[in-house]
Amino acid sequence: MTLVHNHPGAFFGRSTPEELTDTFGSPLYVYNESILRARCRALQALSADPGFRVCYSTKANGNPHLLRIIREEGPAADAMSPGELAVLRRAGFPRKDICYVCNNVSREELALACREADHVSVDSVSQVESFGQVNPGGEIMIRVNPGIGAGHHAKVVTAGKNTKFGIVPDDFDAVHDVLGKYRLTLIGLNQHVGSLFMDPKPYLDAAAWLLRTAERFPGIRLIDFGGGFGVPYRRREGEKALDMRAFGEKFDALLGAFRSRTGYAGAFLIEPGRYVTAECSVLLGRVHAVKNNGPVRYVGTDIGFNVLARPVLYNAFHDLVVYGRQSGDAAAFGRERHGADPGPADGYASQRPLMTQTVVGNICETGDVLAGDRELPEAAVGDIIGVLDAGAYGHAMSSNYNQRLRPAEVLIAADGNVRLIRRRDTEEDLLAAYPE
Ligand SMILES: *Cc1c(COP(=O)(O)O)cnc(C)c1O
Repeated sequence: MTLVHNHPGAFFGRSTPEELTDTFGSPLYVYNESILRARCRALQALSADPGFRVCYSTKANGNPHLLRIIREEGPAADAMSPGELAVLRRAGFPRKDICYVCNNVSREELALACREADHVSVDSVSQVESFGQVNPGGEIMIRVNPGIGAGHHAKVVTAGKNTKFGIVPDDFDAVHDVLGKYRLTLIGLNQHVGSLFMDPKPYLDAAAWLLRTAERFPGIRLIDFGGGFGVPYRRREGEKALDMRAFGEKFDALLGAFRSRTGYAGAFLIEPGRYVTAECSVLLGRVHAVKNNGPVRYVGTDIGFNVLARPVLYNAFHDLVVYGRQSGDAAAFGRERHGADPGPADGYASQRPLMTQTVVGNICETGDVLAGDRELPEAAVGDIIGVLDAGAYGHAMSSNYNQRLRPAEVLIAADGNVRLIRRRDTEEDLLAAYPE
């Protein structure tokens, strides 16, 4: 059986996973440009409202080469740190297309954000005070907490009573006082209720709440509903993608009704991160050992939690593909196509027996488990493992723990050719910050 995916329209373009890891090393984040562009377009199509704007949340993946592609598709961007401002600048985002949404930052950072971003959103009365001190008479946006949250794990629910985020309605009077004290103009409200929703209802409910709240602040011109748009990490088990058309119809109707009810003439923003970059990437790694410890079959790889932190941090699930040792040995697991996407393992079927296996990394921690008890084709030393949907909070959360090198990133361009968009760390990088 031969691989069928080395052509321009396939996930890996003209390359195979083996060629890519041979050339660029392992582990390796591989991104597909066509999928990235398709996700940007799906988001831009959510509303026909002339004031609707997608602001990509840079923290999901801040590679300037990917940011440049996102910018070409039209979205603005959200930054939440000086480093994110730097990568956005590198990618060519002008000030007018950058929103700064931060929490618990210094006055120096707020001053920088005022210079480099179109607008700044703060999320506590004390940060409104700090903002007023560095930018008296300026324009400010506040992040509100509707008291309801959503998300796939308690650590990513970012509104509601048990989170650090946002200003609760009880504090609105205090906000007004501080606005007056520093002659600040409130120009907008934003919220972000959590990450990875697959059921649009909580998001739409929160959006309706924000619109009702906005009526209490006449004169604002920015209403930002936040991110959280989910992707189906369990597609192999049949999980469905968000129905963007159905969502868009309801969302668009909500915006239209608000405009006609209130005469609002400002902008509506959303802040998706994961939805933009998750599905355009497959993380490739190598199998270096297999063993049975008692009843458990371990597959030992170079994909430690320094490379992909989500499974350890959130108990997150990623679909896996086992690629064979050689191109002719297609032990990959089939995955149905997703709309027009080139599927990473399209057209494959395993020639090897299925086994329950636990895939682990090379970090010296018991918790370094990429996937526990998975049914996968029997993996062997030298195989390549593909971790699907790794593009959001993947490389962005990678670290040098165990003094390991953060991996390289490559882009499969629309013409099927591959390009390095971030080199692997070097040992010089590791040592550079230490005084001799
Ligand atoms: C992280 C974050 C986002 C993006 O969240 P996703 O779940 O990746 O869409 C949007 N807005 C704010 C304020 C965030 O902190």
